[in-house]
Parts: sequence; structure tokens; C-alpha cells
Amino acid sequence: KVRVRFAPSPTGGLHLGGVRTALFNYLFAKKHNGTFVLRVEDTDQNRFVEGAEEYIVNCLNWCGITPDESPNKPGAYGPYRQSERKPSYRKFAEQLISDGYAYYAFDTPEDLDAKRKEIPNFQYGQATRMQMRNSLTLTISEVEDLLAVKTPHVIRIKVPENENVHFNDLIRGDVSFETAIVDDKVLLKADGMPTYHLAVVVDDKAMEITHAFRGEEWLPSAPIHILLWKYLGWEADMPQWAHLPLILKPDGHGKLSKRDGDRLGFPVYAMNWTDPKTGDVTKGFKEMGFMPEAFVNMLALLGWNDGTEQEIFSLTELEEKFSIERISKAGAKFDFEKAKWYNHEWIKTESAERLATVISEELKNAGIEVKDQSYLNTVIDLIKDRCTLLPDFVAQSAYFFTTPTAYDSAAVKPKWTAEKAEFFTVFGSTLNLSNAADAEAAFKALAEGKGFKPGELMLPFRIMLVGGKFGPGVFDIAVLLGEAETKSRIEKAIA
Ligand code: GLU
Repeated sequence: KVRVRFAPSPTGGLHLGGVRTALFNYLFAKKHNGTFVLRVEDTDQNRFVEGAEEYIVNCLNWCGITPDESPNKPGAYGPYRQSERKPSYRKFAEQLISDGYAYYAFDTPEDLDAKRKEIPNFQYGQATRMQMRNSLTLTISEVEDLLAVKTPHVIRIKVPENENVHFNDLIRGDVSFETAIVDDKVLLKADGMPTYHLAVVVDDKAMEITHAFRGEEWLPSAPIHILLWKYLGWEADMPQWAHLPLILKPDGHGKLSKRDGDRLGFPVYAMNWTDPKTGDVTKGFKEMGFMPEAFVNMLALLGWNDGTEQEIFSLTELEEKFSIERISKAGAKFDFEKAKWYNHEWIKTESAERLATVISEELKNAGIEVKDQSYLNTVIDLIKDRCTLLPDFVAQSAYFFTTPTAYDSAAVKPKWTAEKAEFFTVFGSTLNLSNAADAEAAFKALAEGKGFKPGELMLPFRIMLVGGKFGPGVFDIAVLLGEAETKSRIEKAIA
């Protein structure tokens, strides 16, 4: 039975890479009728940020990838916050000590500082551990005395010398590390909290996780985790690892960061994130006007494809087609223009009825109250091809709800004549807008009868109705506005 987990640390807003990790876990679970778990890894009290967990939950909901088990929806493997599992970790750290795979370290912060000054790039590990104050260098009775008086201490893993730790990554194949480069990471901190390394292994075991998809930035931590699985005697239950490719800057040079978004003016967070300390807002895709379907579609294709040219996938389709074999090893470039393209494609195919809810909201924020739902639906269908982000609907549709008060006169004025004004007076008084084709034919016949080329009157007509040089077919606009409104806009414009 497949069980996967998304295991974020609640340290702030969710970067699109984090959502992609959640998505790949989710898709794999769905594809295999498995369970998608959200586990909150909040053991690092210094990095804990108020509100981050709630934000993460809201993001997953907005994306439509709601966990099957989570702090809000506990299953049989709870609690789902590591801080609430605190009592379960120490015994494993102590078991590792008695089996010779870990040791107590009593070094004070001052001891460690001094060592860092003495040795450049100091790492606590096989080269240095025998110079430190720990249960490898102290006698058994010294250690017992220190523990008896509750001397602050941590527990560190004892990384073996000259070994090669390797495992099969579902995306990268065989990955191996020389233990010489792996330091003796802290497993249990002085306050009794586990570090991420111990907690992730203990919980993946306790929650019977079968597959772990996570970002490539966790690859350097993998040897520690592999050793812990082995040392705790759980090797047979170890999840299969899949380290997802990095998401790269648009130019392909280096990992995409929040700063790239600030610098280039695009969001890298799923939703707006307000830092509770500074009040600073980091912009999100949702508030920029992305549809969740488009956002998820775009993320799925960052490092995965189905082997064909197809680019547009619904979540349901992704659930069916997702496969590990088609995840690439190479980093995936994030391209904001492409992200917008996805949104545009999704807007074009989405029904007016479904778009109407969020668009009414956008219009309301712009001071336009929609009274007639079916009128709004017709407007949406007429203009959606022209909208890339949801707020574009406001600019593209406002004139359907309010008469223009300003005109792009530069487009008309230089060539405006009394004859043209006269044409519109006549056209307005004989207006018949039962359908766009007949209206256009009548317009052309009248224009030609008065010696105009119809083309030179079309733009003025558009400006009268819309205010500017944009929008769908002008006769479609007129038909939707209706005869009375069209006539009154013509009169107002030429008055
Ligand atoms: N807590 C880690 C994070 O913040 C989880 C890494 C993992 O999936 O093992 O991403």
C-alpha cells in the first residue's frame, strides 16, 4: 500500500518548488491508490514562523491537492506535527548510543566556537570527534556523572570511516557518498527535540511511508538518513527515495529564488505570504490572477512530461498519467511567460459559469456590481480569449457594465469630420441589433451609400462603445450592449 508524505517545515511561505514536491507526492499517491500525508516538521523552534502551517494547508487546498491525513485530518498515524511527537524520539537516539552508532556530546557553545576559530571550516566528525568532549573521549563513569547532574548535551550520529553509502534513487539511479565527507550530525538537541535528520527517519518509519519525493537540495542529507535506517535495524522498511530536479532561474543559471521573483516582477510563492514580523508581503500566483488548474499544470511540467507533445493536463489526467520514469534528472527552467501561457490556455477552455465566481469578485473589487449573471456569462465568453491573468477581465469587460467616460481620441480625432458625425447620427437612429451579422451588413451598406469605406468608420464606432482600441468584434459588443445603450453611447460620443 503506497503511503507518501509532504513534510514541510513551517518557516514561511511556500515556494513553487515546495508545491511541486507536494504535487508529485500527491500524484504518485493517486496513481497508485495510495495515501498522501501532510506532516509538519516543526522541530526547529528557532525557525518556526507563526501562521506558516495554516498558509501551507490553504495553498494545498487552493491547488486541489488536499492531503488524506494531516494535522487537521488525523488518520491512524498521528500526531502529524513533529513537535507533538517529541517523546517518541529520544529512545531511538539512546538505542543508537547503546548499539555504538551514536554518542553523547557535552561540548558547550563556547567550546564549539573556540574549535571553529582554531580549525577553518570545522566539521564535527571523524577527523575531529576525538578532540571533543563526548562519550567517545570521556570514561564511562565521567559520562554517567555528567548525565546524572543533567549536563546539557546533544546526541550525535557516529558516521563510519571509509565507507561508501549508496542507495537507489528512483530518478537518479544508484547514488553513492563517501562517508569521509559526511559529518556527525546532531540527532537529538539539548532541549530534547530531535533534529530533522532523526525525526524524518523515525516518522517515515512510524507512518509507514513507502516512497519519499523531495527536492534535490536534500540529496546531501540522504547518507545520514540511509545510515540511520540501517543502524536502527529498519532497512527493509526504508522508503524508496526520489529526489526531484531543481527548479532553475529563467536563464537556467542556478536555482530559482524568491529574490529572482522580486527582481523580475513575478511571483515564486503559491499565494501571497505576509511575514508576521515585518509585515512584508511576498506576491503569490493566486493573487496575481492564476487559476489553480493552470498553476498545477505548469508545476507538473517542471521536470515531468508524459512523453508526448501534450502540455495541457487537468489534475485528474495528471493523476492517471503521472509516472516516475518520466521525471527528468536535469533541472527545470522556470519561465514566467510560459506560466502565463498556461493560464491563458486554461482561461480559454474554462466555462463562463465557472469563471464567473472569481470574475464577479474581481469586478466587485473594481467597483462594478454584477446584477445579471447570464449577461456576465455572455461577456466572459466574448472576451476570455483576450485574458491572460484573471484581473485582465476587469479591463477587458468594464465597458460592458459602465459607459466609457474617457475616449482614446488620438485614434479618431485627426480624421474626424462633420460627415462622419452625420453618418453616426443616421446609423444611431436606424439601429437594428437583432444580430451582429445583419448589423454589420447594415452599417456597411449605409457607409458605402454615403461614400465611405466602412473600415474608416469601424474604429470610431469601437471607441464610442469601448473607449479604446481593444475588445472583440465591435458588432458583437453592440449586440450585447443592446440598442438603447449603443444608441446612447453613440449620441454621447458625438455630442
Ligand atoms: N522538512 C523538510 C523540508 O522542509 C523535509 C525534507 C524531506 O522531505 O525529507 O523540506
